[in-house]
Amino acid sequence: ILYANDLTKSFGATVALQGASLSLEPGEILAVMGPSGSGKSTLLYCLAGIFTPDDGTVTFGGRRMDSLSDRERTRLRRTAFGFVFQFGQLVPELTAVDNVALPLLLSGKRRTAAYEQARSWFPRLGLTGLEGRRTGELSGGQAQRVAVARALVTGPEVLFADEPTGALDSLTGEMVMDLMVDTVRAEHTSVLLVTHDARVAAHADRQITVRDGQVIDAGARVR
Ligand code: ATP
Ligand code: MG
Repeated sequence: ILYANDLTKSFGATVALQGASLSLEPGEILAVMGPSGSGKSTLLYCLAGIFTPDDGTVTFGGRRMDSLSDRERTRLRRTAFGFVFQFGQLVPELTAVDNVALPLLLSGKRRTAAYEQARSWFPRLGLTGLEGRRTGELSGGQAQRVAVARALVTGPEVLFADEPTGALDSLTGEMVMDLMVDTVRAEHTSVLLVTHDARVAAHADRQITVRDGQVIDAGARVR
């Protein structure tokens, strides 16, 4: 569904990617592993169309990202992609349900329908009863589950998750991963999961390793 071919990306004198290639299959959970600074996040941002690579191509659903206009790329990010980061993706002053409804409201959905749809995600992620809580007052694990709900509420084809459990203790991280994996499986969402934690990566169907801006191990299917 999503391909990176020979991506290169530098920031000034720092080479972040040098010939990185990967493919993400439909419905697959792909873990991208590797040491700090190896280029994992840069690779994710290039695949998501947030960064433009210096060289190489990204193809999504048969279309080259660099053939799209900025508007089309933004639209794609809103409709076909979802994002979960380590932290900081929620608006802390808003309630949990406000946060989850936000992408639907931004895409033009009517208020009643957006809130109804947003609420339906809470039981799926073990968040029943927390709809009206401001997200700044949630625990880390609760906040990440709200972030997962917000990322998936629009029905994206690809979920980009960059260290989604990076700010959590390992037990909470496992719980968030279990719920996230159950949910993306049910929705048939493909996932690009960046992590340096082997236990988190164990939830994936396949694991690849990035080192010095290259994918050094394309990874056998483990599931
Ligand atoms: P971590 O596991 O610590 O998150 P990473 O594998 O995600 O690391 P990247 O964030 O992709 O690594 O960074 C790869 C290299 O590119 C690093 O040397 C980093 O300092 C550099 N880099 C990344 N983003 C920028 C930026 N916006 N400006 C300048 N340099 C950057
Ligand atoms: Mg990173």
